[in-house]
Amino acid sequence: MIAFARTCAAIAATASKLEKIGLVAEYLRELDDGDLAPAARFFTGNPFPQAQERSLAVGGRTIVEAAAGVWGVEDAALSAGYRATGDLGAALGPFVRPSHDLGLFRDTLTPARFAVLLGEIADAAGKNAQKRRRVLCERIFSACTDPLEATYVIKIMTDELRIGLREGLVIDAVARAFARDPGAVRRAASAAGDLGAVALAAKHDALDGVTIAYHAPVAFMLASPIAYGTEYKDLAAAAWLVEHKYDGIRAQAHVTPGRISLFSRTLNDVAASYPEIVAALRAVPGSFALDGEIVAVRDGRVLPFRYLQARLQRKEVAPELLREVPVQYVAFDALARDDEFLLDRPLAERRAQLAELFASTSDTLVAAPWSALEEGAAPEVVHERFEASRLAGNEGLVFKRSDSPYTPGRRGKSWLKLKRELATLDCVVVAVERGHGRRVNVLSDYTFAVRVLRQAQDDRHELAVIGKAYSGLTDLEIAAMTEWFEAHRLPPDEARAAYARLDLKRHEIPVEPTVVLEIAFDIIQKSDLHASGYSLRFPRIVRLRPDKSPQEADTIERVTEIYAEMLTREGVRR
Ligand code: AMP
Repeated sequence: MIAFARTCAAIAATASKLEKIGLVAEYLRELDDGDLAPAARFFTGNPFPQAQERSLAVGGRTIVEAAAGVWGVEDAALSAGYRATGDLGAALGPFVRPSHDLGLFRDTLTPARFAVLLGEIADAAGKNAQKRRRVLCERIFSACTDPLEATYVIKIMTDELRIGLREGLVIDAVARAFARDPGAVRRAASAAGDLGAVALAAKHDALDGVTIAYHAPVAFMLASPIAYGTEYKDLAAAAWLVEHKYDGIRAQAHVTPGRISLFSRTLNDVAASYPEIVAALRAVPGSFALDGEIVAVRDGRVLPFRYLQARLQRKEVAPELLREVPVQYVAFDALARDDEFLLDRPLAERRAQLAELFASTSDTLVAAPWSALEEGAAPEVVHERFEASRLAGNEGLVFKRSDSPYTPGRRGKSWLKLKRELATLDCVVVAVERGHGRRVNVLSDYTFAVRVLRQAQDDRHELAVIGKAYSGLTDLEIAAMTEWFEAHRLPPDEARAAYARLDLKRHEIPVEPTVVLEIAFDIIQKSDLHASGYSLRFPRIVRLRPDKSPQEADTIERVTEIYAEMLTREGVRR
């Protein structure tokens, strides 16, 4: 990884796009096949193929502990380095001692080897997962021989490469490295959802072979959440198509004469469970691949998701069930039509293709209605449409940039989803931390807890950590919070007890458990990461709750309740 790191440093040092492309191209050109795919992925900042939706799940604490084990890290120097850079890679890298043992007994950290170890970290599961992740981190670090190498290795692990490379530049670099047409590389990249595979195809002149194949599913494009609020900054500078957010099951339909597949979110073919959709698709002429949502409907109204449950995972569907829970396929995207591959076309054009295909539709098959949202539309306009969606029985809205391509497996900013939170939790802040980047000198990261009964008979509550949130407060609020938390750190003996009791990490600063925050999240997961036994996905701060005392914060029972509600839903959806 030394050459990779040197290339990254050179890329970071220039503002010229052309130079950046040249540097990446030059580096990639020299690699053998085993290293080429992972190295191309690393440049996009993602250690895994995007289509895989895999994540590393290794925390800063594990990285610091592993680094300390291998290199002997001094706390004070690490804190100073971190404060100066706001970047764990840059702070830890300098602790690497150059090697004197000629490397005879060490692993050399090639991109291929690094990718294998990262894969093992991502796959670590079960009771000893945390320990296993740490051991793997130690293996990676002991193979680093150079501070710059370690810096960039850690930057990849912490998802903080930040060298000013957007994926578009890496695509251009792959084209340059192997003298291919950038358009062909871009097209292959959207089909494969993995720049690694595309780099290999470019090297071996096999880009034409990377295409959508009927009955082989493409990873689903995903939407990023935006918060329901009083302003919509993310929507400001573009034109959008707005659709309802249907509360159903995502499904990708592939239709060729004589064969129909319906792929679920997990990319399994579930066509057998929806014979009426299969029949309706069969009546549409030609070959095509669509993206959409299966919903339960009655009398023209979308029913809540729980009605659909009876239809899930059936190999055969009894006629009564077909009558009781009629379903509809609401198509919202066209991925391919006949021999034409549409992923790299703008959404507006894909929707036009969809409209042509669905010139006449049935009760079972519809193209999702959409409306246009002008650039800079007022929040009232957004809210009006939101309420209309809710009235129709749907969950909220999805905004899609009309000029955007379909990017498989990617949760980007071209699709945004707006829901109102199903539930939020009022949590107590127990520890705080400095942020990253421009927030490195303020206390912007908050570890929060819910209440748990100490003993069943006892009505005294203790706090158990459930998560950590970084986003949601304004700079002004963060500044005020910083001042308050600085003044309310726990004194040393209480702090020591708090570290043990709450299982806090070394860099977390225990504070008086007084501040209550309202936290929104996407889902609750069981997890041994925190003492509460649960963790939250995408936690974000909705607001400060100065009106609530810590004794009024939510309890673990409430968490368990919300988890149980979600389980039925999520268990079948994901
Ligand atoms: P969520 O499950 O809340 O993360 O929201 C993402 C899901 O919303 C997607 O995976 C789809 O299954 C679903 N969805 C519903 N309506 C739409 C739509 N109009 N466009 C895209 N996705 C939609």
